[in-house]
Amino acid sequence: CYDEGKRCAETLFFDYKRQHNLNIRIARIFNTYGPRMHANDGRVVSNFIVQALQGDPITIYGDGTQTRSFCYVDDLINGIIDLMDAADEITGPINLGNPDEFTVLQLAELIIELTQSKSSIINKPLPGDDPKRRQPDITLAKKKLSWSPSVSLNVGLTKTIQYFKDTLEYS
Ligand code: UDP
Repeated sequence: CYDEGKRCAETLFFDYKRQHNLNIRIARIFNTYGPRMHANDGRVVSNFIVQALQGDPITIYGDGTQTRSFCYVDDLINGIIDLMDAADEITGPINLGNPDEFTVLQLAELIIELTQSKSSIINKPLPGDDPKRRQPDITLAKKKLSWSPSVSLNVGLTKTIQYFKDTLEYS
């Protein structure tokens, strides 16, 4: 229902464009992270950072070989602004995300390194519908919007870790 809900929303947008000549844009947003994520959001980046900072075990679901491509929030917002500012015929759908692909295990190891944490890594059952691989093809965004992300995972995680350090201290 999650996937279908998104697909249905896109269809409704195109119906409104066709029937009412509404000016629309459709962005397909891939995994995004950064400061101001909620510590209990349950997403992999926030979970791993909070676990690493608190010295708790890092919970990898499955064997950690599944991949994700993580986009820093500022890059994503710039992409959305570029799409909104683009010519009206550029409706999308257009993929916005960072194509640099990492395994969940690589992410865990990088976060342990950047936080200098002593956390261990443990494995938990993989949710049934967990995609094995996810990497956006951003060819269209590059061509039509001249947009591509510029913040590396290393730099983005460092800023996000600092945010969680500051907020966890006050919680
Ligand atoms: N994941 C994990 N440990 C966690 C949270 C998530 O190993 O504590 C995995 C999850 O199974 C998935 C990946 O990390 O393979 C990304 O999960 P998230 O919920 O952040 O995003 P999505 O599944 O929507 O891509």
